[in-house]
Amino acid sequence: MKKRYCKNCETEFKGNYCFNCGQVATANNRLKFTNIFNDFFDNTFNIHKGFFFTFWKLLIRPSEVLKSFIQGSRKKFTNPTRYLVIALAIHEFFKYWSNANEAINAEHFQGFSFLSNQLNTSMLLWDLRLITDWTLLGNLIEALVFPIGFYGLFRKLRYNYSELLTLSFYLIANSIFITTFFVGLPKLLINAYAPVLFVVIAIMIYYIYALTTFFREVALLKRILFVLIGLVIFFFIRFLLIPLLLALLFPLSI
Ligand SMILES: [Zn+2]
Repeated sequence: MKKRYCKNCETEFKGNYCFNCGQVATANNRLKFTNIFNDFFDNTFNIHKGFFFTFWKLLIRPSEVLKSFIQGSRKKFTNPTRYLVIALAIHEFFKYWSNANEAINAEHFQGFSFLSNQLNTSMLLWDLRLITDWTLLGNLIEALVFPIGFYGLFRKLRYNYSELLTLSFYLIANSIFITTFFVGLPKLLINAYAPVLFVVIAIMIYYIYALTTFFREVALLKRILFVLIGLVIFFFIRFLLIPLLLALLFPLSI
């Protein structure tokens, strides 16, 4: 019998999957259109681990998805990094399509009264840039700093930062979908924008729901308080500290 080697990692095949890298044995055959077609549907609609399955579960039972990934069941759902990348891609597409930037104004931006006008203006410009033209960077920063408060507040539950980062990737991705849904769709369909406040409230309700069910080992009142404080810390870092840091490092002016 002729020996077969995995074309992905050169290991000798035994069985239907490469035991070294996990590539399926049939991947050694030349690509056919059906492979691409099946891959697409498998990754997108598959009842397990498919994108829509993950999206739906993450919306109705977020803690189930977050806990299952953190606790090691990592094939059941679309993994958090891929999920975030899909969200960012869809967001970029809708942003281009719906011209959503014009819906955003920064009249509510206060800055810090004790800082110079010049610095506050620079911060405002950075803040705007991160939610309009530089959304990719803005969303990545958001995902990275989201766990900071929760890591400190819920440290008794002993989650490490990477574990909370997967939670963050899933939740930030869904906040992108919520934004895209409420801002992009109405613009596309009836040429109107949902009020920013409405979108923010929808995202907040989702975050609070997801986080309070996720940290359920902590007593309810304390948990709700910690979740709210954690969110305040997140918004403080994301919308004030990061723009301040960027404004100090790379000053912008009108
Ligand atoms: Zn292999």
